[in-house]
Amino acid sequence: MCDYDNAIFRLATAQEAEPEDYTGEDGLLYCGSCRQPKEAYFPEGKTFFGRDRHPKECDCQRKRRETLEARHREYKHREEVERLNRKGFTDPAMREWTFENDNGKCPQMAKARAYVEQWEQIKDGNHGMILWGEVGTGKSYFAGCIANALMEKEVSVCMTNFALILNDLAASYKDRNEYIARLCSFPLLILDDFGMERGTEYGLEQVYNVIDSRYRSQKPLIVTTNLTLEELQNPEDTAHARIYDRLIEMCTPVCITGENFRKAKAQAKMECLKMLLNRKESL
Ligand SMILES: [Zn+2]
Repeated sequence: MCDYDNAIFRLATAQEAEPEDYTGEDGLLYCGSCRQPKEAYFPEGKTFFGRDRHPKECDCQRKRRETLEARHREYKHREEVERLNRKGFTDPAMREWTFENDNGKCPQMAKARAYVEQWEQIKDGNHGMILWGEVGTGKSYFAGCIANALMEKEVSVCMTNFALILNDLAASYKDRNEYIARLCSFPLLILDDFGMERGTEYGLEQVYNVIDSRYRSQKPLIVTTNLTLEELQNPEDTAHARIYDRLIEMCTPVCITGENFRKAKAQAKMECLKMLLNRKESL
């Protein structure tokens, strides 16, 4: 808004004086609470529709407005994160896989934080990761933390797996290209539990199709897998070889060595129940 529009806006939104407001020595209305003027003279003694002054925000009015604006921004932000959650997670449980909920047992977690913190460079350099390691070490959790933290930055992420993708592709064979194009449109794609989908020729073809499309989209991909690095580097046949070759070209292997996450969770649950039962006894 130019000054002129601004002045009109202020005239149109002139507020009534509060009871504790007072007129200062300069003849302007002052706020009784913050003692800042609620009016200002037009510059160079100009008048506008017979008025020599226009309303002006005092500190309390500004603070009130800023609080409202911040609340509105926060509301809009939460709405956007919620939309990205619904769009990007194929399982509602993934929403809970956050840095805040982390049990601190995975020594590589700092890498997940660094990935998020340096997202702009990661994205520009198209840096993917293969998260590999033993079953239950928290690879999916690690990837989920990245997904949640990026969504919190309003970055669109899709976290899914090939079992779901192959189901979807089988169900929608007409729009296969559209479906794959959608997967490739996300700035970050996470494929969880890669290698679990024991390959029929058709399945492997589709897996290659998705990985290769993602490769050509030049956007980063994160894969979690129970396959060992050795298995990835020594594929059993050419159908697997071309998939793994693409993956290794796009993704840097990161070994996840967290203590068995599922066992620890089961243990924690047992402890919790024990405590509840004991409490019941002592009542
Ligand atoms: Zn005030």
